[in-house]
Amino acid sequence: MTRGSVQREIVRKKFKKGPAVEIPVATITGVKDGPTFVFMAGMHAGEYAGIKAAQKLIQSTTPGMLKGRLIVIPVISTRAFMMRNMQLSPVDQREVHYYVPGSPDSSYTEFQVDVLWSIIKDATFLIDTHAGEFAQALMPWVPVPMVGTRRTQDASVAIAEGYGVEYIELRRARERIPGLAIYLAERGIANVWAEIGKNGLPTPEDIALHYDGAVAALQTAGMLSGAPPRPKHKYIGNRRVAINAAQSGVWYPAIKEGDIVERGQYLGELRNYFGDVLDTYRAPFRGIVLYYWSSSAINHRRRPHGYDWHSGLVSIASLAEDD
Ligand SMILES: [Zn+2]
Repeated sequence: MTRGSVQREIVRKKFKKGPAVEIPVATITGVKDGPTFVFMAGMHAGEYAGIKAAQKLIQSTTPGMLKGRLIVIPVISTRAFMMRNMQLSPVDQREVHYYVPGSPDSSYTEFQVDVLWSIIKDATFLIDTHAGEFAQALMPWVPVPMVGTRRTQDASVAIAEGYGVEYIELRRARERIPGLAIYLAERGIANVWAEIGKNGLPTPEDIALHYDGAVAALQTAGMLSGAPPRPKHKYIGNRRVAINAAQSGVWYPAIKEGDIVERGQYLGELRNYFGDVLDTYRAPFRGIVLYYWSSSAINHRRRPHGYDWHSGLVSIASLAEDD
């Protein structure tokens, strides 16, 4: 890419066993040399705050202000986006975040991840934006995959430290880190996945948290001028529990995202169609509600590829101060 240029394209690749993958990409190449930084959004198609932050980044970044190259992908899963599909691929019901490049013939989602990798593979830094889906009320926080070399981990943490969110999570349990984030970190790409926004609502505040976090990260990388902000953060701990329903029903949550719940605290109940209580749920330990399903409809039987997306009720993490 020539210095001092802006390029926009829709990368289009035909999958032989299904529909084409189409990914919009804006590449802004600075007038001065520097690293390559990827900002991407819309992997999960109803997570809109990051998508609008990506658009703002494309509109507001010029080659004249930039050292290095900024690649912005406003919507990774365009097919899901235009179908208003939640979380899982509308083509094969897979969860994009947990697949890695290298098996493009296996499924549509793996083909899509392969196409994505061809766009982002030269990055030194990467921000992947997420949020709560339509059915999911989520508190803003920035998880960091603590895998790869110490140097990569430090660079990933430095990206997270510029975000204006209350909580950062240094996630070390490998089995709980999305596969793509591990894949990137182990190839020396410092990365975070920022969870900001909820219920498919792109509020100005959440868009700003994503956008300002990206600008701070570009400053941290030395690609934009100015000192990045370093707000004080609290830390999410290592314990995690996903409270899931063991049967289908109508969900009555009694907590909110960001609530700190005590051990044994009542979280809500599941009722049948007539309103009789089927089950009640309590917190197994003191922790913070990262998100809960705000959708009343809980379908225990719908588990595509084993995902508990439709039977999830509450996700609770410990606080680092309690670990
Ligand atoms: Zn997501």
